[in-house]
Amino acid sequence: MMKVRETYDLTGIVQGVGFRPALYRAAVKAGLTGWVQNRSGTVRLCIEGEDKSLDAFINDLPAFIPPGADINNITKVYSEDEDCFTEFSIIESFDDEDRDVVIPADLSMCADCEQEILDASDRRSGYAFTTCTNCGPRYTVVNAVPYDRERTTMSVFPMCDDCRKEYENPNDRRFHAETIACPVCGPKLTLETLDGNPVDGNPLELAKLEISNGKAVAVRGIGGFLLAVDAFNKDALLELRKRKNRPDKPFAVMVDSIKTAKKYCDVSPEAEELLLSPEAPIVILDVLDSDLPLDLITPDAKTLGVMLPNSPLHRLLFSQQFEVLVMTSGNRGGEPICITTEEAHNRLGGIADLILTHDREINLRNDDSLFAIQLNQPQAWRRARGYAPNPVRLDKPLSRNVLAMGAELKNTIALGFDDEVILSPHIGDLEAPEAVDSLEQVAECLPAFMDKEPSVIAVDLHPDMQSSKLGARIAAAKNIPVVEVQHHHAHAAACLAENGRESGLAVVFDGTGLGADGSIWGAELLDVTPGEFNRLATFGGAPLPGGDAAVMEPARQVVGRFAACGIELSDVVRERIKITEEQAEMWKQQCEKGVNAPVSHAAGRVFDSVSVLLGISAERTTYEGQTAIRLESAARRFGRKSLTKLPLDAYEEKNIFRISWKKAFEFLAEACLESGKDEELAMALHEAMVEAIMLMVKYGAERSESRTAVLSGGVFMNSILNEIAVPELEKEGFEVLLHRRTPPNDGCIALGQAVIAGA
Ligand SMILES: [Zn+2]
Ligand SMILES: [Zn+2]
Ligand SMILES: [Zn+2]
Repeated sequence: MMKVRETYDLTGIVQGVGFRPALYRAAVKAGLTGWVQNRSGTVRLCIEGEDKSLDAFINDLPAFIPPGADINNITKVYSEDEDCFTEFSIIESFDDEDRDVVIPADLSMCADCEQEILDASDRRSGYAFTTCTNCGPRYTVVNAVPYDRERTTMSVFPMCDDCRKEYENPNDRRFHAETIACPVCGPKLTLETLDGNPVDGNPLELAKLEISNGKAVAVRGIGGFLLAVDAFNKDALLELRKRKNRPDKPFAVMVDSIKTAKKYCDVSPEAEELLLSPEAPIVILDVLDSDLPLDLITPDAKTLGVMLPNSPLHRLLFSQQFEVLVMTSGNRGGEPICITTEEAHNRLGGIADLILTHDREINLRNDDSLFAIQLNQPQAWRRARGYAPNPVRLDKPLSRNVLAMGAELKNTIALGFDDEVILSPHIGDLEAPEAVDSLEQVAECLPAFMDKEPSVIAVDLHPDMQSSKLGARIAAAKNIPVVEVQHHHAHAAACLAENGRESGLAVVFDGTGLGADGSIWGAELLDVTPGEFNRLATFGGAPLPGGDAAVMEPARQVVGRFAACGIELSDVVRERIKITEEQAEMWKQQCEKGVNAPVSHAAGRVFDSVSVLLGISAERTTYEGQTAIRLESAARRFGRKSLTKLPLDAYEEKNIFRISWKKAFEFLAEACLESGKDEELAMALHEAMVEAIMLMVKYGAERSESRTAVLSGGVFMNSILNEIAVPELEKEGFEVLLHRRTPPNDGCIALGQAVIAGA
């Protein structure tokens, strides 16, 4: 049989993930000769063998690539009747001037490494920093590019002879594993008190003992510190809530195995796949009845954020001791999670009892990613560890390099060039100065790492956002232009971009965002075409007495909403929302005179008012999104179609179609007083929201070519809304695009900004 030679270029996530060694082993096994080589952002594969076996090899490629890799494209570049190689080899990288740099994402511990650390006879038995080419930290340890050991925080650990042998052996799983380490040469664990004194003894065993005694131990994971507390210890949980000043916001948990996840939660096949993936995010699951103290872990909803151990350290922390640990951010409320041991000492005083840390430094912060399952498919809510900085690929290349600064809440930034947008990990809310520092660091690192100089900076229209201010400073320093992008336009562009599209009728429902007309938008129907948008529909506005204060104190919004709708606030309703006569009068005056009472159109604010009116939310919220979570949870408890319909009206004003909630609130002002109706009315509100969406989209369809509905904004994290709205839209003949790989919340804004400003 004649032998042939074929040469392929492979693109996607193919570098820094053990791709070449995997190809090497597969090729040798298949009896093929040739070579594999890293080139600028691609891998070139040259194979010789019989025609048929070459085809089979290429067809089977997806099956034997490493778990962190992802082939985007396979292109055949040559096919020759040649046969000269006697073996298969990994040849030196081909470096050209204009190389595309790849920083791999952090990957969860692989099954092989897990086996080694649990095997008493293995030289890495019980070793918390075991990694290989298939797993371990990447992004978080990188100091500079290209990605190799000298430019990571592992550079201070010279390899021992055994590790060196593995590192240099193409047949070894650790061939060119840049974070390779062992107990002889690698990082070491320490347990410290908050005042910085090391605790004598085995750090891991002592930490486990302290956790089982009800203590909170700050554990330094891949991307930062998490606080570990025994999930069954009520006193410890109460104490943690008190110390973190976090009365209600749900805690995430880490469980020892998928079996335990299934014991406490309803785990769908999609959720299971996600939990077990190399990215190993937190997945929001419905909880089952159990002896877990859910009222302390997740007081507001019957859902729980669950993850599996993602590093050897976490795995060893569980070994034969715990089933479920609460693992919550190692931070003070509102600040980013601590990454250095020094930060932990400075910022976790009064929160953690002990610090379990090590000398493998984290250069860049990376939170745990968070996903929900929406309509049987994963949807990102927070994109960080495991996913960032993998690119979002665009259908159409950008015309210029752009650095997009994102929003104020759930900030991420993005670097766009060619047909890629690199979305940074979740940076968080920019209120805390530490968060702004973090933003600045990432804004500096991303372009440097990717070797792409931005020629334009994209910012939100709102000039007071920290991200907008920093963007302006960077632009001034580099002497490049700033492009302001309207918030909801960015939402729409992000959802379109991740779906490979440019145009659509975008329904963007969220909590806030400065509109092009100076008012607060947030229930928008935008007709989006490349680079442009036309605002077709929105909700009638209502004032927020006290501005931002009304968001944390939604009872104020009821006063504002009633004032806007001309509804008298009766004493019974006033008492129900627990405000005094004086407060009611003051806030009403504020609305009427327009003193610090900005008008908001946002859908999120309708949820707020209804939630507090129905007595489902307290008059004050303790975290962002609480009212919506409680309202969704109440509707979920009702669990069927509501018999009550909230009346809606619509009108046109200044060429914009507007949904009026006046009649709905008139109805609710009476109905909320009936006892036992709150859950049904919560469901009725969800149904009314969908009715509003349908009215808006149908109105838009008469004025646009598009039959594609795009759903973006934090409100679309609400699964009931998606479950009702998506089939309804499809029934009317619309194609529906949802966020999947990027969050519907403001975590997607930077992507949208990059696409718009870089076009
Ligand atoms: Zn591994
Ligand atoms: Zn070693
Ligand atoms: Zn938003």
